[in-house]
Amino acid sequence: MEIKPKVVERLVRYAAIDTQSKEGELRVPSTEKQFALARLLVEELRALGIIDVRLDQEHCYVYATVPATLPPAEAAAAPAIGFIAHLDTSPSVSGTGVRPVVHENYAGGDIALPGDPAQVIRENPFLRSQVGADIVTSDGTTLLGADDKAGIAAIMTAVEYWMAHPGERRGTIRVAFTPDEEVGKGTAFFDVRGFGADFAYTVDGGETGEISDETFHAQTAVVTFAGRNTHPGYAKGILVNSLYAAGHFLSLFPEGMKPETTEGREGYLHPHDLGGNEELVRLEVLLRDFEVEGMAAKGEILKEMAARVEGRFPGVTVGLEITDSYRNMKEVLGRHPRVVAMAEEAMRQAGVTPFRHAVRGGTDGARLSFMGLPTPNLFAGVQNPHSKLEWVSSRALVHAVETIVNLARLWSENGNDPQPGQGRTRTSRGSASR
Ligand SMILES: [Zn+2]
Repeated sequence: MEIKPKVVERLVRYAAIDTQSKEGELRVPSTEKQFALARLLVEELRALGIIDVRLDQEHCYVYATVPATLPPAEAAAAPAIGFIAHLDTSPSVSGTGVRPVVHENYAGGDIALPGDPAQVIRENPFLRSQVGADIVTSDGTTLLGADDKAGIAAIMTAVEYWMAHPGERRGTIRVAFTPDEEVGKGTAFFDVRGFGADFAYTVDGGETGEISDETFHAQTAVVTFAGRNTHPGYAKGILVNSLYAAGHFLSLFPEGMKPETTEGREGYLHPHDLGGNEELVRLEVLLRDFEVEGMAAKGEILKEMAARVEGRFPGVTVGLEITDSYRNMKEVLGRHPRVVAMAEEAMRQAGVTPFRHAVRGGTDGARLSFMGLPTPNLFAGVQNPHSKLEWVSSRALVHAVETIVNLARLWSENGNDPQPGQGRTRTSRGSASR
């Protein structure tokens, strides 16, 4: 089976379907239109011969099982592996009327998008490495939505491969497609128990070879400044204006600990939302760090800042409440080193050099890891996600499919136990949530 035409054709077809999610909706899915792709995938899975396919009619999750080819006793002993990708595309750029363009046999240089002369993809080292491959983009007027339809196309093509090769040995494989990842709700109704995998891989990453096994620890602090309001015409000696206290608090954020001054493995403190009046101001602050100790230190800094403001503005009471948003999935994945090591081996066997990537944000896989399903994230090859300059190359897509296929085979070979890789760790924005 030739993988390239299959996976590119799938990506182009899926990308043309509008599945944009919407911020601020209470229900999941946040938009009905995500069902269009979900239903199509259900049909295609059935057409490929998959019998166990389930669509969550209420919340738009697709679950399917690729049956094991190992003898029953061996299949029962082998782990069930999951592969997951998300149906929705980012609300930040229009996903309506996407017209994917396949730039065949890329020769190097910048790529001008035909629908808007202002949209030019500049050559960078990764693009340069894709000379000779086909590059898929939008026409420049919308996003492409390869985040994460590249992941869906790769998984679906792997399913097609598995069903066409019933003689190959493999254990049970579970597949899931989820809604609303881009609005942070992708795991809200994920049926971990029903999915029945021992661990899984999201296929939602960037550059070829990337594997994400770490995310930030994330907390949110709500800081309140309570003053005393009165009619300003008769306020002398009475009014205590909490706005000044909040303003001073903002001035105390350490310069070297902001998102705009940090990168790599550095954490940050980030004032993110502010509202209020003389009487009461409410400020939301995001705390991020890869390490538990770094997280605690950031909480202490906020406490000290609160104390300083109270000292300086008598009559103002500063409240500080810190809650967990999500945790670094390394806590979970560190207990399952083979899950990542096997993915690295699968990449090497596909001719790809793996590298570990620490996500400066959260992922659905991180949330799933803490829901009992260890789930690192694998590359799908997508670059410039959430923008009109999004692109993915056919070579990266083929590498993603091969990695998935290799993973299934490697896990079925019980004796194979590669050591955890020594890959370097990089960080980037990718398509991570805050
Ligand atoms: Zn994504």
